[in-house]
Amino acid sequence: MQLTETSKGKQAVIMDGYMYSLKKETKTSKNWQCTNRKCNGKLTTSFDRKVILHADTRRNHASDESKLQTHLLRQTCKRKAEEEISERPRKIIIREAGKTKTDKVSLSGVLSSRRAIWIQRRKAHPKLPSTREEALIAATQMTTRDNALIEVDYERQIVGIFDTMAIQLNKDVEDFFGDGTFKSCPKKFHQIHTVITHANGSYVPLAFFLLPDKK
Ligand SMILES: [Zn+2]
Repeated sequence: MQLTETSKGKQAVIMDGYMYSLKKETKTSKNWQCTNRKCNGKLTTSFDRKVILHADTRRNHASDESKLQTHLLRQTCKRKAEEEISERPRKIIIREAGKTKTDKVSLSGVLSSRRAIWIQRRKAHPKLPSTREEALIAATQMTTRDNALIEVDYERQIVGIFDTMAIQLNKDVEDFFGDGTFKSCPKKFHQIHTVITHANGSYVPLAFFLLPDKK
């Protein structure tokens, strides 16, 4: 008996080429129902699934090995999509398909695995802001490491990122330099303006500003 989960994330097991999803559980046992909706196949196992207490296998359908393997591949790919967040979907699928009975996985199975990877990754990561307003809101919600402070000026549409430690250490310094760059700027803004100071022979950045224009 192999443990898996249904496409909706419900606990499931595979036995003899049939998949059963968890229907009910008590402190000692678990009831499973065949995932084919028209089927009456039922299983009762001990809570740890190690012992089959009862099997009602009045099956009215053939086991579909190809469908099962496709399902398992998709579930694995979904999990790997999160574990290996920067790996290319293609690589994950090829590697994982190699571990299953590949002759049983159809092309549509491969495509559905790829889709599952994208969906899973999109769930795990918020979508990028599509307007500057959204970017300003996102900036206020960002968590920062210690010694970093983010301030948002909605009126002027400016995000300020401050290194509070560096500012504190250089509070008596009188010379500050500012420089703007347009090229390497986050989307929805047009300039990063950096304020640095010169102390003890090195340049220390104190603050960065994301600006709405190049002025
Ligand atoms: Zn069934």
